[in-house]
Amino acid sequence: MKRLASLLCGEWTDGAGGERTLEDAATGEGVATVASGGLDLGAAVAWGRRVGGASLRAMSFAERAAVLKAMAGVVHEQREHLIDVSRQGGTTRGDAKFDIDGASGTLSYYAYLGKTLGDRKVLLDGEAEPVLRSKRFVGQHVRFSRRGIAVHINAFNFPAWGMAEKAAVSLLAGVPLITKPGTATSMLTHRIVELWHEAGILPEGSVQLLMGGVGDLLDHLGPQDVVAFTGGSETAASIRRHPNLVKHNVALNIEADSLNAAVLGPDIEVGSDTFFMFVNDVVRDMTQKCGQKCTAVRRIFVPTHLADAVQEHLADQLGRNAVGDPEGKDTRVGPVASRSQHRSVQAGIAALEAATTKVWQGEIPDGAGFFVRPSLFRSDAGLDTAYVHEHEVFGPVATILTWPGDVDGLVDLVAAGGGGLVCSVYSDEVGFGGDAVSGLAPWHGRILWGSKKVHDQSPGPGTVLPSFIHGGPGKAGGGSELGGLRGLELYMPRTAIQADQGLLKRVFGE
Ligand code: NAP
Repeated sequence: MKRLASLLCGEWTDGAGGERTLEDAATGEGVATVASGGLDLGAAVAWGRRVGGASLRAMSFAERAAVLKAMAGVVHEQREHLIDVSRQGGTTRGDAKFDIDGASGTLSYYAYLGKTLGDRKVLLDGEAEPVLRSKRFVGQHVRFSRRGIAVHINAFNFPAWGMAEKAAVSLLAGVPLITKPGTATSMLTHRIVELWHEAGILPEGSVQLLMGGVGDLLDHLGPQDVVAFTGGSETAASIRRHPNLVKHNVALNIEADSLNAAVLGPDIEVGSDTFFMFVNDVVRDMTQKCGQKCTAVRRIFVPTHLADAVQEHLADQLGRNAVGDPEGKDTRVGPVASRSQHRSVQAGIAALEAATTKVWQGEIPDGAGFFVRPSLFRSDAGLDTAYVHEHEVFGPVATILTWPGDVDGLVDLVAAGGGGLVCSVYSDEVGFGGDAVSGLAPWHGRILWGSKKVHDQSPGPGTVLPSFIHGGPGKAGGGSELGGLRGLELYMPRTAIQADQGLLKRVFGE
């Protein structure tokens, strides 16, 4: 079995102790091991800050953008090879492509954005304003790169894209990083970092890779460092409380669970373009990556008079997405990513069976793989179905929730999820659509309003695009990533500089 080492202080370094095995999700067989016990993570933090920080801060945005472009180029050139690596872990070809193309696309987008920033190394925030009444003595908010290191802790579900989106923003902002992938699928992350390292395109010290458990990494962070975390809300809560992070007020961005909602407006007719946009979006989210997308629809809000038709259409389309061997020609849905995810999704399905009515369930192949039966549930009990609003079942699972069709009632119901990453609203009416979007927006980081004129132009609510923010309030973690230049704010805090206008302009530009 392969052993996957960490890349720390510029060297491939293997841990001793705390060994974990990565399994092929389609067969349950071990494919690689990792171990992070005994690694000197304090030295890695110090080296990254000193060597990586110096390398990146010596570069302009355009020069860092050229690095991102080269990183995207490697992922793109090695696409077929990386798809094979991903498939060794039991991923379908379609899901592997989605992850890998998301990685190269996000790196390319930030490379383009960085190029437009040119030779600068800082960002001006707003205009210079007079200090009191003086025209000469002014204040200007300026964003500078942190003099620390970023620790990126990622979830297992996007080993390429999740890692690359955090890396793109951090490197463009001039902050070196240590990336720690979710262990179950970390073979792909490892191979990408290995390819970048072999290609010699990474500025010295700018990217380190920690395989396996996080160890004592967070104990070594200080006031100029950043933690960007993606994962479950319980892990997020433990990181938020971490004594060393609290002591130093280490900047923290959290992307956690989300009970994303899709809302069908009462104005939509069964069989219309907007109706099918809604059905297709829900089915895509339940089946793509076996429902293991943080943005996938979990709760489907449908006016009572449309519920039976929605149930019928969803069941029909879900039934056309065969679950099976990821290598199979007709397979549309593979296994969930790991043994522990398998246990957790099965437990979630059992809890939904007890709390709601099961209206459709798919078939799975026999064997030892981590397959789960795609399942559609229904509840007509609204807020009384507490489990549906509180627990994210991270698999090909969603629940139809009926409601009378009023906007106020809808906002209360959706808000019972405690805050989410994305909500989609399908309506062709300015009245219902506008009120629903306005009422739901404070509870979400992103809203997709689907309607007849755009029914064939959307990638669906589940696709995270680098130009728009990703994150959400409350249960979703309260964080914000991406969103073009907005994403750099985490890594480039602002300082108000009060000085002579002429000096300010000469040093920091217009
Ligand atoms: P997880 O168990 O919380 O793990 C997330 C990451 O944290 C992994 O790298 C994990 O390492 C690490 N970790 C575990 N314990 C830790 C600790 N005590 N201190 C520091 N790091 C620790 O979540 P997951 O199972 O990988 O991912 C599934 C969850 O993530 C779902 O709930 C999903 O909604 C959420 N998610 C959210 C987003 C988003 O953008 N909001 C995106 C994807 C997933 P190991 O893997 O080595 O245990």
